[in-house]
Amino acid sequence: MSQTERTNLLDFDRAGLEAFFADRGEKGFRASQVLQWVHRHGVTDFEQMTNLSQKLRTALADEAEFTPPRVISTQVSTDGTRKWLLDVGAGNGVETVYIPEGERGTLCVSSQVGCSLTCSFCATGRQGFNRNLSSGEILIQLWHAQHELMRETGRDRPITNVVFMGMGEPLLNFDNLVSAIDLMLDDLTYGLSKWRVTVSTSGVVPYIDRLRERRQVALAVSLHAPEESLRDKLMPINQKYPLSELMAACHRYVDADRRHSITFEYTMLAGINDSPEQARALARLLGDLPCKLNLIPFNPFPGAPYECSDPATISRFSRILRDRGYVTTTRKTRGDDIAAACGQLAGQVDDRSRRVARWQGEQSA
Ligand code: SAH
Ligand code: SF4
Repeated sequence: MSQTERTNLLDFDRAGLEAFFADRGEKGFRASQVLQWVHRHGVTDFEQMTNLSQKLRTALADEAEFTPPRVISTQVSTDGTRKWLLDVGAGNGVETVYIPEGERGTLCVSSQVGCSLTCSFCATGRQGFNRNLSSGEILIQLWHAQHELMRETGRDRPITNVVFMGMGEPLLNFDNLVSAIDLMLDDLTYGLSKWRVTVSTSGVVPYIDRLRERRQVALAVSLHAPEESLRDKLMPINQKYPLSELMAACHRYVDADRRHSITFEYTMLAGINDSPEQARALARLLGDLPCKLNLIPFNPFPGAPYECSDPATISRFSRILRDRGYVTTTRKTRGDDIAAACGQLAGQVDDRSRRVARWQGEQSA
């Protein structure tokens, strides 16, 4: 059988792998054994999977494979942040960023090639949308980063946290997101705690509810404005799911398990959303919802129509919220020298909707 006809088992979640073995008359525990080899130990060569029979190893080598993605580029920042651009075929690449902080190692993963939501302050949104990543393509980002770092540093499981804050809107790729998360939390693979996997959303309300019902993990919500009309302008999704509905969904999420506390992300845009009155309006909006606030200094990208608020404005904004009892942090910008910060991920996106060309046309009109 030729290389191209083999089944790539990285695309299978646990249920898929169990079905694959069942079809071949093998017991379900083979799936656990193989998942452990691949994800826990980074072994993708069936010959090295010594607890499988020789007959099974040979059969697998014949018809299946684990094909890791091609790495288009690796960049390492002076602060230790790393950014990988992984080839997902047809001229498209997605970015994954590793951010070390003492004992903690956070991986920021992408969920889509590009993004369809066109938030005006985001480089990914500017690039347009090509397609959803499969669950395997989401998971492989963790697989790649974990095993490369393990090899280099000798540390076991250097990645302790995963945040879905890379390219794309994770809740618009719901089924693949949940399958990938299931394996991230599996004790035999990465064994991450559900509190250490954070899904960041621009506020796709029906899917916040589905996530609550299907797989509760930490939730981060991109707010960026305390009132509807400004949010409508910054984030077109607000026209479909307004703040009032979004906040109600956040309350439902937290009510499902009182250990939840939602993180609200708020990108600081000079003269747009950073006034003391807007900070007070934000506090009124949040009310008694268990939450934390994360202020993100705006990260510029070529052609961006905004500037970042100055540090004094950010600390004034932060103080108003802290004085009202909200835990408020300002995100340190990491990986500055390699454009790895929030909203700067651009990967390689062949925009199927041709949005970029249209946008450039509008700018020059
Ligand atoms: N689509 C999801 C997750 C990816 S974006 C979401 O929107 O939540 C991750 C975070 O980066 C979001 O909070 C987003 O609003 C923020 N962000 C986007 N562009 C940014 C920029 N240029 N500067 C700072 N933060 C930005
Ligand atoms: Fe998409 Fe999030 Fe960027 Fe908005 S901020 S365009 S939802 S990736």
